[in-house]
Amino acid sequence: MNIAAQKPKWVYSFGAGAAEGEAGLRNLLGGKGANLAEMSNLGLPVPPGFTLTTEVCAAYYANHKKYPDGLEAQVEAALAQVSAQVGRRFGDPAKPLLLSVRSGARASMPGMMDTVLNLGLNDVTVAGLAAESGDERFAYDSYRRFIHMYCDVVLGVEHHLFEDALGDFKHGLGVALDTDLSADDLRELTGIYKEIVNRELDEPFPQDVNAQLWGAIGAVFGSWESARARTYRAIHGIPDDWGTAVNVQAMVFGNMGNDCATGVAFTRNPSTGENEFYGEYLVNAQGEDVVAGIRTPQYLTRAARLAAQDDKPSLEETMPALFRELCEIYHRLEAHYRDMQDIEFTVERGKLWMLQTRSGKRTTSAALRIAVDMAREGLITRNEAVLRINPAALDQLLHPSLDPDAPRAVLTRGLPASPGAATGEVAFTPEKAEQVAAAGRPVILVRTETSPEDIHGMHVAAGILTSRGGMTSHAAVVARGMGRPCVSGAGAVRIDYKAGFFMVDSQTVREGDMITLDGSSGDVILGAVPTVQPELSGDFGQLMEWADGARRLKVRANAETPEDARTARSFGAEGIGLCRTEHMFFDAGRITAVREMILASDEAGRRAALAKILPMQRQDFVSLFEIMSGLPVTIRLLDPPLHEFLPKSEEEFAQVASALNSSAEKVRARAHALEESNPMLGHRGSRLGISYPEIYEMQARAIFEAAVQVKKSSGEDVHPEIMLPLIATGKELSILKARIDAMAREVSGETGEKLEYQIGTMIELPRAALRAGEIAEQAEFFSFGTNDLTQTTYGVSRDDSGSFLKDYLKAGIFSEDPFASLDQEGVGELIRIAAERGRRQRPGLKLGICGEHGGDPASVGEQET
Ligand code: PEP
Ligand code: MG
Repeated sequence: MNIAAQKPKWVYSFGAGAAEGEAGLRNLLGGKGANLAEMSNLGLPVPPGFTLTTEVCAAYYANHKKYPDGLEAQVEAALAQVSAQVGRRFGDPAKPLLLSVRSGARASMPGMMDTVLNLGLNDVTVAGLAAESGDERFAYDSYRRFIHMYCDVVLGVEHHLFEDALGDFKHGLGVALDTDLSADDLRELTGIYKEIVNRELDEPFPQDVNAQLWGAIGAVFGSWESARARTYRAIHGIPDDWGTAVNVQAMVFGNMGNDCATGVAFTRNPSTGENEFYGEYLVNAQGEDVVAGIRTPQYLTRAARLAAQDDKPSLEETMPALFRELCEIYHRLEAHYRDMQDIEFTVERGKLWMLQTRSGKRTTSAALRIAVDMAREGLITRNEAVLRINPAALDQLLHPSLDPDAPRAVLTRGLPASPGAATGEVAFTPEKAEQVAAAGRPVILVRTETSPEDIHGMHVAAGILTSRGGMTSHAAVVARGMGRPCVSGAGAVRIDYKAGFFMVDSQTVREGDMITLDGSSGDVILGAVPTVQPELSGDFGQLMEWADGARRLKVRANAETPEDARTARSFGAEGIGLCRTEHMFFDAGRITAVREMILASDEAGRRAALAKILPMQRQDFVSLFEIMSGLPVTIRLLDPPLHEFLPKSEEEFAQVASALNSSAEKVRARAHALEESNPMLGHRGSRLGISYPEIYEMQARAIFEAAVQVKKSSGEDVHPEIMLPLIATGKELSILKARIDAMAREVSGETGEKLEYQIGTMIELPRAALRAGEIAEQAEFFSFGTNDLTQTTYGVSRDDSGSFLKDYLKAGIFSEDPFASLDQEGVGELIRIAAERGRRQRPGLKLGICGEHGGDPASVGEQET
């Protein structure tokens, strides 16, 4: 029968140097099936077989678990073709064809269904296999493995019943190892296994090979809807309707004697990326023996063996001709797929068979090296090399990470707020953190949430853990700025500050106990876990240079301190895109002055406080302008969510009182009066500038005076960009802009210097996005403040989202935390509207993004149109 001519086509054959499928049919044939077809097309030695497509799976589920018409005939025909190619028949008593049956979805789904090997063995064919191989022990060993595997995977008989029976049997014989069992023993064992099946299922182990085959096919399709497969799909975002394919393939044996072997290999080193053939093999073994760790595998190459000072011979030494053939094949596969491959092979009686190839998993540093090397070798283009690297994984290269081999006891998981890993002693107050750090010990600051007064503790901490707050909470934003690992919003952590411990369920962690944070995954781990320091290779610089050549966006840093500004420049930042001026006052020496300003009861009091702040601000800006020498610096005027700045403790009330020449009671009362129910929607941003003009005037003066000073000292022009936060209307902006312009004229008059500057705004409120036209009349640039824009679009508080985020993720309402990855549909639409309306009003209006999403690859990646 001509299989190719049949419609609809459910089955695709491969083998003997040809295939009906190819790599491009991955959706239809699954990853494994498509690659087996592709290898066959390349003329590589692939054991012949066939693939039942993912469409069979879909049809099976659409039709109350019934196979589509025509499938059975197509399977029969494909099986006949395999028979003809290998010269064996399925179920033949003398020369039986044995099969492997495996699942194979589009995306690799480990743990979905185990493979069934040696299918086609029964009481009759096992004798044929014994006679033909001349190895009765091998035949019965294969049979008992098959019964065990088939019962476990297909018939649902508990795995341990066979394990127990094997253990009892060996015990009865007084032997310890499976290899101590003789052919007769194994034959007897198959009898015992079959009795187990009889007892458990009330029917015998299927002797009909066709029943075995359809049983295994049904089990693969059934496994698509198993609980573990469904969970895996949910976690990895694999759609339910993709379905799996089934691959049926002639068995080849790596365990028929010492001229047989089996192995796994990578075409380049998956840990380092080095261009060397890397892998392991075992003589006289089946594939599972290599990965199961029962026997220690041997190296493939002589060089690797010598480097490891291993005395067991490499494949290169034991089977040199075969090794050469394998090398030729791996070079061809790598060149064909243009990527590092992970391959499986078996040698049966001196003949090499390729069982699998796929793109190999690798560490981030290996990925980097492989991409750069392959571009240099001309195998891929530079743009492809850039696109091969997962940008989020690059973070791994910039921060310490947990030693992947170290054991870890995960206590709970919060939000991965700032990447990197850190271990240290638990401290619940910034003061305690300072003490521990001063004693030279690493410390983890653990707080319900952080506020500006915790800054000194955050600064000395190796890592920060909070039980409340989202990805844009104070802790998260500040930790990222400082480059400190941070886990925020770990809701299961209940802190008792007074008693000096926190609890997760019934587990207690006291002050001074060691914990470890993985800011890249959000894991909070009990005890110390060794970390590994990142090593930046030249490949990183090379890849970033290629990325620079391809990108269209400009990248500026979010920086407030000279240290951050210098780091940003050293990584190639093209200026500062967001300098949050309120962050300049987190410093312990300054916060009191800011509090004085906030708490002053009249304009005179505020002016007195501002007079103290002005020189500090001016100096801050001088430093930033100098470091950025000529590059643009966007300075955002004060936007303090008031609650972050108000004093809370008696000590703080007293401190501010003495600075204000007032009493602690008065300060407490004033702080109380300023308390807001919804500080995030309260008296912040430009509203503060409208109420208290002197604040923004002071800041504008500091900026202009600094610009003049740097211009005079360096001779270079400085072009500050002044950004007004939380604007909702054009009118607010025009009032504030007029005051800043007036201040510019004043400073110009005083210094005799002409000032060049721009005034723009953040788009952080839906109203501002909708009224972007009116706002662009005044604003010379827009920067999307997507933290607030997300908060205000969703009406979800950035500080409180942690408490229900996981429910929303679990229910599939959010696919990601919208504070981490931009909601392209909702917030994105507002951005589009604002961009269009803004540019209609002011063609060429400069647009940027300064919310935390600016650092998220998915949020700033190019959209397919
Ligand atoms: C924003 O809202 O996106 C922003 C950058 O401002 P902040 O995070 O300081 O509110
Ligand atoms: Mg904001």
